[in-house]
Amino acid sequence: MEVKMTNQEKIKCEHFGTCSQECSGNIFYRKNESGNAQLFYECGDVVTRFADDWPYAWPVDSELGAHYGHPEGIALTISDARGLGIKEEYE
Ligand SMILES: [Zn+2]
Repeated sequence: MEVKMTNQEKIKCEHFGTCSQECSGNIFYRKNESGNAQLFYECGDVVTRFADDWPYAWPVDSELGAHYGHPEGIALTISDARGLGIKEEYE
């Protein structure tokens, strides 16, 4: 069964409340140099950790799941990102 990220509107940027009022905490991806999906919040902050109620995901080149902290930011394969319902920037 495929899990969809249906509660994305509930997810808030870690800086929510202190960053831009326009930041809803929603996320998008931008293709990086390696051709993977680097995840960003709407305000431009990198996503470093999945919220507890997000589906499981496995960052590229990482031994830890996305629910653990990744200070350098989280990149998923494009396929994984789209499978979670994450859209590309400007899409
Ligand atoms: Zn933000």
